[in-house]
Amino acid sequence: MITFLVILFGLLIGSFLNVVIYRFPRGESIAFPASHCPSCNHQIKPWENVPLLSFLFLRGTCSACKTSISWRYPLVEALTAFIFYLSFLEFGLTWDLAVFALFGSLLIAIAFIDIDHLIIPDSMIIIGFLPGIYLWLTRDGQMLTPQVLGFIGLGGMFWAIRYFGEMAFKKEAMGFGDVKFAAMAGFVLGWDVGIVSMFLAFLSATLLFAVLIPSGVINRKQQVPFGPFICIGIWLGLLWGQELIDWYLTMFIRI
Ligand SMILES: [Zn+2]
Repeated sequence: MITFLVILFGLLIGSFLNVVIYRFPRGESIAFPASHCPSCNHQIKPWENVPLLSFLFLRGTCSACKTSISWRYPLVEALTAFIFYLSFLEFGLTWDLAVFALFGSLLIAIAFIDIDHLIIPDSMIIIGFLPGIYLWLTRDGQMLTPQVLGFIGLGGMFWAIRYFGEMAFKKEAMGFGDVKFAAMAGFVLGWDVGIVSMFLAFLSATLLFAVLIPSGVINRKQQVPFGPFICIGIWLGLLWGQELIDWYLTMFIRI
């Protein structure tokens, strides 16, 4: 029953994220006016706004003009619900669940805004520091040193990639938004899990490009947002980073 409520809450937050992802970078109000079909301006009725179900029920089209609705709307809803579910499995019914499920939601918003506009809004990066402050305050201050080192270390690492990448390739290798975002990730995760996370970010990017470039979905010259991969890395690191470190150290010590 609680699992069901957690997933339901995730779906509702996901529905809200769709509004944020569309309106926030355009400088529009998140709260008003009510959602409209971008094609015919038809006002979305409450029953057309039920996460996942309305999309299925309307067969992915606007009820007024039959323009197809992007599959991204149900995807974001399902993804958010999944993040909530994973957080519940990891943290149980605790404050950690609320903090990290909402942090995961923020990462989803950042990832899709970066995909659409190639920017990571500063205000969202600032909000992202809050879970770090929460960890600092709730873990008897033990986290603070690793967190500050993570902030400096990951920020410095991405700044170096940006600086030397630009020298080597004579074009922007890494956006400054990514540098700030990585520094934030380091503050939330601490330097050790942070490094694992950024390794996972580069790994996921490499794996995806290995599929997308030969299949022609993207080409080499295209500017590709790196933010979504940082989001993936942060999330994997948050849930399994410490396990990965422990596993790696055990392997190392045995040899
Ligand atoms: Zn319409």
